[in-house]
Amino acid sequence: MARIIFLGTAGSSAVVSKQLRSSGGIVLQVGDLQFHIDPGPGALNKAKEYGINLHNTTAVLVSHNHINHCNDLNAVVDAMTHGGIEHRGIVLASKSVLQASDKHHPFLTKYHQSLVEKIIPVEKNHKIGLELVEIHVLSAEHTDSSAVGFKFFCPKFTLAYTGDTQVTPKLLEELTGTDLLVLNVPYPGESGTGMNLDVNAAVQIISHVKPKMAILTHFGLQMLKADPIMQAREIQRITGVQTIAAHDGLAISPGASPNHSPVKGFD
Ligand SMILES: [Zn+2]
Repeated sequence: MARIIFLGTAGSSAVVSKQLRSSGGIVLQVGDLQFHIDPGPGALNKAKEYGINLHNTTAVLVSHNHINHCNDLNAVVDAMTHGGIEHRGIVLASKSVLQASDKHHPFLTKYHQSLVEKIIPVEKNHKIGLELVEIHVLSAEHTDSSAVGFKFFCPKFTLAYTGDTQVTPKLLEELTGTDLLVLNVPYPGESGTGMNLDVNAAVQIISHVKPKMAILTHFGLQMLKADPIMQAREIQRITGVQTIAAHDGLAISPGASPNHSPVKGFD
């Protein structure tokens, strides 16, 4: 049994600050394992609202150090460890999240570092096995130069989350063989800034990877105005790949019978 729950779909400072969409990240449950990806502002509120018990978190994964991806990391670690009563859980994060630089202190405080069982600073090409799931760290080209994405090899499906990035030949290669492709697409049309995906870039990736399903998330203001549902329909029309726009609280069960899934599943 696997499930992906979107605790947020906001993708820019303007959308996050006004909470036009929430920004709590994405939770992936595979059997007894629970992964929390990019816990931005509101992760705890939204977990409660959508019935996710953060104490059950196996690992927190953070793709880079922008506030909408890592703000609630310490709060999620606190929830995962019952405020430090249980020494457990894993944090996998880009070096920019874990290490100090001239502009940043480490996002994970020293105290919260001491609460977890293991901290893994990740970079592209890393492979980490957690019981039945293997995680491959994807390359990314973003304004945070140590940004990464994550690909989960689960027993019945493969899920990739690009994080924030532009398209590169390396990324296209790494995404090959993905069943469920989650793309951060803050911009509609061809309006991207070059360090993030726009709809045009999403078309390029989806046409190349041909996943069983693509899910758009991480929307900026222009994307919300353009209507993510319409953008997803257009991508589906061009690529022939089932493409949906995530909304806060969207839950998908990959591999589930279509009758029991809010979104058509696949086997
Ligand atoms: Zn970013």
